[in-house]
Amino acid sequence: MKPKLYLVIPCYNEEAVLPKTAPTFLAKLLDLIAAGEISDDSRVFFVNDGSKDTTWEIIKALASEDKHYSGISLSRNMGHQNALLGGLLEAKELCDVTVSIDCDGQDDINAVDSMLEKYKEGCEIVYGVRNSRESVTAFKRGSAHLFYKFLEKLGVESVYNHADYRLMSKRALEALAEFKEVNLYLRGMVTLVGFKTASVYYSRTERVAGQSHYPLKKMLKLALNGITSLSVKPIHLITALGFIVMALSLLGIIWSVVAYFLNATVAGWSSIIAIICFFGGAQILCIGVIGEYIGKMYMEVKARPRYIVADKTATIKSVSNRNE
Ligand code: UDP
Ligand code: MG
Repeated sequence: MKPKLYLVIPCYNEEAVLPKTAPTFLAKLLDLIAAGEISDDSRVFFVNDGSKDTTWEIIKALASEDKHYSGISLSRNMGHQNALLGGLLEAKELCDVTVSIDCDGQDDINAVDSMLEKYKEGCEIVYGVRNSRESVTAFKRGSAHLFYKFLEKLGVESVYNHADYRLMSKRALEALAEFKEVNLYLRGMVTLVGFKTASVYYSRTERVAGQSHYPLKKMLKLALNGITSLSVKPIHLITALGFIVMALSLLGIIWSVVAYFLNATVAGWSSIIAIICFFGGAQILCIGVIGEYIGKMYMEVKARPRYIVADKTATIKSVSNRNE
């Protein structure tokens, strides 16, 4: 059976962009349908993220023009990551496979062909990876590189140069839905889902119109979210720092006692220095220990799935079918 594909496209204040890019998404979808790659029930699925302009009116007009356009509108602006997750989770009820893509035309829609090929080879998640970043400023390129390296050091698995242009099967989306956290950094969460994955490469271009919604402030917020949502290593660093300062304080204490016996100090100096060094170290260490527990609690309250089953042998499948 041909898979039912939904192209999930978050849109926020994109009235300048949508009339230009929507037809390109539709053309791709129709090409794929004509080529027999996907079913005719496939859709271009817009998620209006509480836009303040006429974006939703444009989406509704498109949907009345062609049945292959559809969409949902969120009650207010929830932010790119939330809008995207909302779109994916709504779409998973309606289709077999999704491809998430920005609506500004920066991601090359033709990469969907190779994504679908990988899907047919059994991949549940296919990452769209930019093979050049010429279209963005040197600052954005450099800072992104540093950020990926930093994430790697913190033990967060991420796909280098991949944003949110990716294919996900219904099964992968069902697994993603099990991640109950609200601070979203999707590209980091998706790598936790597992299953067979692949990457396809494309070159990213300029926005066709309008302005980026990711100014420096929002970019930093997303980066901070990426770190704090996926890693408790910063807490381990505090504990380690506590140990180091404690060790140094011991040296400080020895030094102050030696100085005392060498008569090189004024009265009371040694005891004050010894106390300051000791409590400085002890306090950082204690904060670290408390932090370790908070870190554990943080991971617990996320209520992430403890395991995800990828496959079963035929014998188990037949037993569960009989029980249904
Ligand atoms: N977007 C959204 N909600 C927001 C901000 C952005 O749905 O609050 C959408 C936006 O319409 C676009 C995608 O997210 O389709 C990526 O945003 P943008 O192109 O501004 O980011 P950049 O590509 O510059 O990082
Ligand atoms: Mg963009």
